[in-house]
Amino acid sequence: MTELPTSVSIREVGPRDGLQNEEPIPTDAKVKLLDALSRTGVRRIEAVSFVHPKAIPQMADADEVWQRAGKVDGVRYSALVPNTRGAQRALAAGFTEIEVVVSASDTHNRRNVNRSTEESLDDIAELIALLHDAGATAEVIVATSFGCPYEGDVDPTRVAAIVDRVVRDGADRVAFGDTTGMGTPRRVRELVTAVRDRNAQVPVLLHFHNTRGTALANMLTAMELGVTEFDASVGGLGGCPYAPGASGNLATEEAVHMLHDMGIETGIDLDALIEAAELAEYLLDKKLPSGVLRAGPRTRLTPRPS
Ligand code: ZN
Repeated sequence: MTELPTSVSIREVGPRDGLQNEEPIPTDAKVKLLDALSRTGVRRIEAVSFVHPKAIPQMADADEVWQRAGKVDGVRYSALVPNTRGAQRALAAGFTEIEVVVSASDTHNRRNVNRSTEESLDDIAELIALLHDAGATAEVIVATSFGCPYEGDVDPTRVAAIVDRVVRDGADRVAFGDTTGMGTPRRVRELVTAVRDRNAQVPVLLHFHNTRGTALANMLTAMELGVTEFDASVGGLGGCPYAPGASGNLATEEAVHMLHDMGIETGIDLDALIEAAELAEYLLDKKLPSGVLRAGPRTRLTPRPS
C-alpha cells in the first residue's frame, strides 16, 4: 500500500456549500452553526459566499452572518465569490482567502453564469489580479471536474488545461469539485495524475460529494496520490441541485472518523464535530445523511447485555 499522509487539512464548507443547497434558515441559526464549527478544532472554514441575493437567497445575509460570527484564533475563514462585485464585498468584509469558481464543462458553466468556460477564465484572470492587489489569496475551484450532469464525462486533460491557464494567471491554489458526485477512484487517479504531470507544484484541494456513495473512497485514493487538502461538510449538509433528495457533500465527521482511526491527524475533536452535526439537524429540522452522525464513532460501544 502507498504511504499515506500523517495529517490532512479539512476545510469545513457546511456554512456555505451546505446551506446554499438547503432550504434557507434564519441568520441566527447560521451564526450558531458557524460558531459551533469554529470550536471543533477545524482549521479552515468556508464561511459564506457573496452572491446576488436573487440568485441565491440562502446567502442574502452573508455580511451579517460574518459580522456576528465569532472568529476563533487559528481558524482560517474563506469566502466564495462569483464575480468582481462579490470579490469587493468579500474584501470589504475583511476576507483574505477567497475562492472563485469555473466549470470544466461549457454547458454547466453556461447554465450557471451564462458564459463559456473560456469567457469565465478571462474574468477570473482579472479577479485574481484584483484579489492579489488587495493582499488576498485566490483559489480557483473547477466545478464538474469529474463529470457534468449535462455532458457526462469530462476529459481530465481539459481540466488540466484549465489549471495551466489559472496557474499562469496567478491562482494560489486549485480545487476540483465533484459537483454532482460522479467521481470514482479511477477518475480521481486520472485527474490528479493529469494535473500533476503538468503542474506538479500547485497546491491541490479536492471537493467530493457523496451523491453516489464514493466520497470516502475518492478521498482515500487522493491521499494515496499525496493530496492532503479536502473540503467536507458537517453532517453531509447540502444536496445535489440535479438530483432532488440525493446526498450532498462528503460528511466531515465521516472523513474525520476514518482519518483518525488510520492515525491521520486533522486537529478536529470528533465529539465536538458530531455535536455540531446534531445542531445542524436541529437548525434545519431534517435528518442529515451522515453515517457517523447516526451511529456515533466506533469508540462508542453498545452496553454489554447483562
Ligand atoms: Zn459541494
